Amino acid sequence: MLDYPDHLACIVWFAGCNMRCLYCYNPHIVLGEGDIGANELLDFLRKRVNHLEGVVLSGGEVTLYPELSELCRDIKELGFKIKLDTNGSNPQVLSLLLKNSLVDFVSLDFKAAKTLFKAVTLSNFYDSLISSLQILQGGNIPFEVRTTVHTDLLNEEAINEMAGVLVENGYGGIYYLQNYLHAEQTLGSLNANPKRLDKSILTDKIKIEFRN
Ligand code: SF4
Repeated sequence: MLDYPDHLACIVWFAGCNMRCLYCYNPHIVLGEGDIGANELLDFLRKRVNHLEGVVLSGGEVTLYPELSELCRDIKELGFKIKLDTNGSNPQVLSLLLKNSLVDFVSLDFKAAKTLFKAVTLSNFYDSLISSLQILQGGNIPFEVRTTVHTDLLNEEAINEMAGVLVENGYGGIYYLQNYLHAEQTLGSLNANPKRLDKSILTDKIKIEFRN
């Protein structure tokens, strides 16, 4: 339910990612090759028709999967709703999914503002992320924007800057923040107990909610 609000859903983790976020606690997924293919997934879902309402496609980065449109179509034909989790690096694929009504809800990970994006993700997808945000803004399906916060990487000033970017781009929804939770394995070596954000100095230009 937490992964797809108000829906009884299962999660499918896609192996592989084009970012290397230092706090990522799924190195086995990011660097792995996956355990099952599309046919096995569809067999699994066929047995859960009328028991589950939705499927969360997460990862890793789902939009890297080459047959994503076909897979979404097959999942929707079984009657499931689809929530897509994405890091926003692939606006073309996102646009296609929206255009063909192949997803019902999107969670967009906003990793960092432009100045810190590379340091947090070890990648250069900031402009793609903004394009993805704009595509979602212009689309007609619900979406949310969320950020994982490790305060050694993102402090209050950084979060306020990101909130400003969302406002500039017309985002009027809730900006969800989720505090870093230390896991045994992460992609980077980060302080296990970073300080918490000081909520009193976060901007009020946008509605911010903490998930944990
Ligand atoms: S946290 Fe970063 S590295 Fe890990 S799956 Fe998400 S985008 Fe990829």
